[in-house]
Amino acid sequence: MGKLICSHCQKEYSDVTLAWKCECGGFFDLPFTPRFPLSLISSRKPDMWRYREALPISSWEQRVSFGEGYTPLSSLSWRGHQLLVKQDHLFPTGSFKDRGASFMVSKLRELGILEVIEDSSGNAGSAMAAYCAKAGIKCHIYVPESTSPAKLTQIAAYGAILHKIPGSREDTARAAHEAANSIYYASHIYSPYFLQGIKTISFEIVEQLSWRAPRAIILPVGNGSLLLGCYLGFRELQEAGIIDSIPRMFGVQALNCAPIFHAYKQGLQQPVRIETKPTLAEGIAIKEPARGKQILQAIRDSHGEIRAVSETEITEAMLELARSGYYLEPSSAAPFAALPKLSGYFLKSEEVVAVITGHGLKATDKFQQI
Ligand SMILES: *Cc1c(COP(=O)(O)O)cnc(C)c1O
Ligand SMILES: [Zn+2]
Repeated sequence: MGKLICSHCQKEYSDVTLAWKCECGGFFDLPFTPRFPLSLISSRKPDMWRYREALPISSWEQRVSFGEGYTPLSSLSWRGHQLLVKQDHLFPTGSFKDRGASFMVSKLRELGILEVIEDSSGNAGSAMAAYCAKAGIKCHIYVPESTSPAKLTQIAAYGAILHKIPGSREDTARAAHEAANSIYYASHIYSPYFLQGIKTISFEIVEQLSWRAPRAIILPVGNGSLLLGCYLGFRELQEAGIIDSIPRMFGVQALNCAPIFHAYKQGLQQPVRIETKPTLAEGIAIKEPARGKQILQAIRDSHGEIRAVSETEITEAMLELARSGYYLEPSSAAPFAALPKLSGYFLKSEEVVAVITGHGLKATDKFQQI
């Protein structure tokens, strides 16, 4: 059996524990040293499992996979910049969350777990529901009642048991935490396994640039699993001597719900309670990001920045992107909307990657609304 270690007090736990964080409140880490046999990697099938020596699983042959990953890195001329666009909406369930779900559900199967709970504003729930369906794991998904109908339908279609919770995203989290006293909590926010899957996005970007790091990466931030997974991946590549430095990480939030942005602006180490308003960008509408402190650290460590964009800026970017052939969820349009506010941080000639996180087909109602 493997073990988990508290990132705060170093206490050890068995990897089949029902606990989803340490008694001290710290998050679990996995003690593991990744390897990158480059020529072997390049000879394999183009999916996220080509980096298997860098994924802490004993039997990757038993993985739960649809052949996902190695999404295209295309170029887009956007408001005066030549961007590289990592198209992570091109996953089986329509969002990058499949990276985390594929790895986490593979790990759950390895651990012999048969029933799980997850809470989500939609996309993580869809991803967990799909991978659990493939693995034959019983899956309960807690969602805010106000989640997009397309996402609710998708989750239910995969056969997951849907629990619609009235109130805020935080009320949904509380309901899930209560249920997690008796059922394994496969949380995309707390589980270290989820980040292990997400980190493959960094491996892919670096491989697609012939094993070089881009200058900067721009991505939307809600709970920060994308940002922290990316950061973990780049750190591992740097520690393995494959890249010299970590790209500057630029996180983008919706101004209507921007706890990380406000904390960053005030020089705080961790987010504080703020007033929020509804936003079209439901994928990043997270008022109390549990890993807020880690997100702020990662941004500062990479010499990045955090920015917030208005509803109008998001809407304009969505429509403009669609007219360039990219049909994205509002949350995915946020980084593109922020580009004018970030353009002082890099030269026009430097490589900048923007991540597309979710497919527009999930947000038909939002497109109708505008
Ligand atoms: C989950 C999600 C995000 C934000 O990711 P976090 O890991 O919560 O920061 C952004 N866009 C879409 C479409 C998402 O589903
Ligand atoms: Zn601890």
